[in-house]
Amino acid sequence: MPVLLLNASLQPLNVISRRRLVVLLTKERVAFLDEGVRRQVEAELAQRRLGDGVIVVRLLRNITIPRRMLRPSRRNLLLRDDHTCQYCGVRGQGPELTIDHVIPVSRGGASSSWENQVVACRRCNGRKADRLPAEVNLRLARAPYPVAHEYAHLLLLRHPEVRTAYEDLLRSALTPAARARGVSIPFQISAALG
Ligand SMILES: [Zn+2]
Repeated sequence: MPVLLLNASLQPLNVISRRRLVVLLTKERVAFLDEGVRRQVEAELAQRRLGDGVIVVRLLRNITIPRRMLRPSRRNLLLRDDHTCQYCGVRGQGPELTIDHVIPVSRGGASSSWENQVVACRRCNGRKADRLPAEVNLRLARAPYPVAHEYAHLLLLRHPEVRTAYEDLLRSALTPAARARGVSIPFQISAALG
């Protein structure tokens, strides 16, 4: 039963435990976005059992979001590159994918930077070996970018069920006319709502 904690500005902050939720509720630091959900969760808490759905709460007072320096770990790189080989575009499961140093470390490339590491399938990585992409006619789908400050972005990628709940929440904030037009919610909406 994940709990998505939003800033007062509705920007996602974190996924918290239910124990933390109880603490925040007790301290009156958070509010539910939906009155029906509030009643339901309070009834569930009184019976000491919470359901499976995602609960969304928001802080009553905005906090400054700490800048979290994320490491370009294998896990984070797979999330950034959407489990997709950045050379041929094939999508794969974790074990089928490798992390490639665009400029090989043996040729002076940075060993641990967001900009010099991409997800590559075994085939492309084997073909590339210790050469530069251009030397073996490989081209990157996009320039590798750092996501060090986009914590919420990774947070939502890591918790698909939370992302769905969050997107539903944003969709419900659209006007009926916009919904009818099928306006989609940009993934990084925090700026628009913040
Ligand atoms: Zn590939």
